[in-house]
Amino acid sequence: EEQLQSSKNINDYLYQIDLENALRYSINHEISLMKSIDGEKMKALRKYLVVLATYFPLRRNNVYLEVIRDVVEKKNTMTGEEFSQLAKTTEEEMSPVYSGAPRQWIGCKGSTDSYRGYPCGLWIMFHMLTVNFALERNKDVTQTFSRNPTAVLRAMHGYIGTFFGCADCATHFLEMADKNKIFDVRSKDEAVLWLWQAHNRVNARLSGDDTEDPEHKKIQYPAAEHCPVCRHVNNSWNEEEVLRYLKVKYDYNSIKFDEIS
Ligand code: FAD
Repeated sequence: EEQLQSSKNINDYLYQIDLENALRYSINHEISLMKSIDGEKMKALRKYLVVLATYFPLRRNNVYLEVIRDVVEKKNTMTGEEFSQLAKTTEEEMSPVYSGAPRQWIGCKGSTDSYRGYPCGLWIMFHMLTVNFALERNKDVTQTFSRNPTAVLRAMHGYIGTFFGCADCATHFLEMADKNKIFDVRSKDEAVLWLWQAHNRVNARLSGDDTEDPEHKKIQYPAAEHCPVCRHVNNSWNEEEVLRYLKVKYDYNSIKFDEIS
């Protein structure tokens, strides 16, 4: 047990359960809680669903997300309740999209229930999306949006600004996005690094904060023990190596299914 615990902490793995929990909470709670979705909100929702349907790795190539995307595509306005119904019926029809009821977080598990979980899941989901977008192993390179290197960041920006339940987080994120010129990103690799850097800025700001899980301290990621070559001898980042590291960690092929270590 003790060995399991420590090996869990020293690994830096990506788990399917965490990605699915984040996706499920985003769809069934955050989006579904909106009173009405129209105008800019509808645009944000469409962009998000297009990116998810193309790049989120559902098991057995389930078309759940494509179905939801295609229904929403045809609407100008929806209530959160209508969206919730759509998600529910689609989940029933396409069953099993997820493996049963919501499961315990693994990589995003906090030392108590008040720590980590969903916000952690949302971060790793967006890192996973930027990376696999950059790896270009997607099924649908013909879609015009996939030629725009900012497509995934735009979807994230719209999602966070419109649906993310933590209003303070959203305000911070949009300010930072503006200041660090999120939409000036010129390649898909730059988009991966933009999000990595943005996340590290958030980690630095929250280091030592009340919200920090004492068993999962905010670090400048990745830790030196996980990627010794990611830092130069003078401790500055070697971005080429960071990019390489992120492209392995967040690659679909690295996803762990269900087991703890
Ligand atoms: P998280 O920061 O959630 O990270 C999740 C996992 O991502 C880590 O375990 C690690 O494996 C990996 N990771 C960490 N850093 C990087 C990186 N730089 N690049 C790639 N992968 C990385 N909370 C607040 O209290 N105030 C805020 O203003 C705030 N803003 C937020 C904005 C956004 C957009 C999001 C998604 C969350 C925000 N949060 C904020 C929540 C906060 O960032 C953490 O998600 C939460 O505290 C849980 O932290 P965690 O230890 O699980 O690690």
